[in-house]
Amino acid sequence: MTVLDSRPAPVAYGTARLLAGVTSGRPADLARHREHHGEQRFRGHGELAALADQVRLLGRGGAAFPVGTKLRAMPAGGGTHVLVNGSESEPASQKDRTLMRLAPHLVFDGALVVARALGTRRVTIVLHDPVSERTLAAARGERRDAADVRLVRTDGGFVSGEVRAAIRGLNGGTAVPPGRRVLPHERGIDDAPTFASNVETFAHLALLSSLGADRFAAVGSPEEPGTTLLTLVGDLPHPGVVEVPTGLPLSALLPEQGASPRPVLVGGYHGSWISDVRGLRITRPSLRAAGLPLNAGVIARLSSATCALGEVAAVSSWLADQSAGQCGPCFFGIPAVAHDVHRLLAGIDSGGDLERRVAHLPGRGACAHPDGSAMFVRTALAALGDEIEAHRRYGTCGQPWRHELPTSTQAGAA
Ligand code: SF4
Repeated sequence: MTVLDSRPAPVAYGTARLLAGVTSGRPADLARHREHHGEQRFRGHGELAALADQVRLLGRGGAAFPVGTKLRAMPAGGGTHVLVNGSESEPASQKDRTLMRLAPHLVFDGALVVARALGTRRVTIVLHDPVSERTLAAARGERRDAADVRLVRTDGGFVSGEVRAAIRGLNGGTAVPPGRRVLPHERGIDDAPTFASNVETFAHLALLSSLGADRFAAVGSPEEPGTTLLTLVGDLPHPGVVEVPTGLPLSALLPEQGASPRPVLVGGYHGSWISDVRGLRITRPSLRAAGLPLNAGVIARLSSATCALGEVAAVSSWLADQSAGQCGPCFFGIPAVAHDVHRLLAGIDSGGDLERRVAHLPGRGACAHPDGSAMFVRTALAALGDEIEAHRRYGTCGQPWRHELPTSTQAGAA
């Protein structure tokens, strides 16, 4: 396992793949990148899609869509766009900015492998993080083949990182998800077909194209071969970004925490809290089958020194603030849920209103924000039984709120 946190310097365990050559915490220049990853190897459109199928490559942004299927659906030609979505907007997630800051040439390699396969030169990297922008711009200056790659830095909250919102922003609109179903591979940047995925997905495509399917799949679980990046948050031995082989038991990241271990949050702020991780392995298919979508790969466990319900209340308020306010469940529902969680924190029971409001959120928004927010709160209420009971009875669990779950992306800024 490779452990990386760009603040402080990263620590490496075992062999790195995506993070090869960058576990020192310094960005790899082109020479060091080539030393670790070799020369870029390009593939044809059908060949790249077939390779992605062979290793069951899934997108690493949140939806975990099969990359081979998405590639195959793309029309090839000079009018097609390639979009690397680096607008990582969940405060707890650091993996994409870690790749952009430390392994910018791997990101370029992935983008150019896809562009070559699709026969286009139209490549855009959209991102929020100014440090990533500077690192990518410097890396672009080192190579002629990336001269046409457009870097676009945008501002925005959580939902602006959703790919359809990012495309809407690039097209001159407000970076919020469109109210109707628009598929980027049909109408994306400038209304042209656009292959869009997140930064880590492109980095895997660079590796896959260079290694081939067999070498790529020599690591990890047969169910989803290779490695994956996670961001570990809270009371864990190496908080920060880690690269792990898929199939690793989740418990390997979570050493003993005394007689009363705290629940674990899998999948970040649109994810699920779970009390018992025994038998769970880190692959997207197996976690999804267990009702625990990995989403952008955030795994969190709180220390026993913080008020867990206070942490949940803070994230609930943050989720309410992230709404674009254009759909009912966001405009009314998530703020009401956050309000009820804060009342519960103060020992005021909603008499079932909180649970009812949470149950009404899913399936009614134009994007997954209400569904993800509902999952976060619903599973927290189920997993934090003892803490919640203490708040119901005494108005406190006796612990201060230590803000272990970040609610500002500033935490990741250098
Ligand atoms: S569900 Fe919420 S976040 Fe999603 S588009 Fe509607 S208002 Fe915006």
